[in-house]
Amino acid sequence: MAMQAPTACPICGTQIFMGWGPTQSYKQPLSAGKALVGGILAGPVGAIAGAAMGKNLSVWTCARCGYSNTYKG
Ligand SMILES: [Zn+2]
Repeated sequence: MAMQAPTACPICGTQIFMGWGPTQSYKQPLSAGKALVGGILAGPVGAIAGAAMGKNLSVWTCARCGYSNTYKG
């Protein structure tokens, strides 16, 4: 299950906005497998809209070590 995103990369410790941060956000799909087809909302505007409409997930990526994971919000 998705958790709240940490404020730093859990692998190398890079801080948020210093390389660690959300790179994609999308609404959790009602049916699995369609998120990447129809649900991608890019950027903060998409994240806000998604949060207003329902459960929202974000893919966070570290620019230093390449770690990525999906978190709530
Ligand atoms: Zn990292």
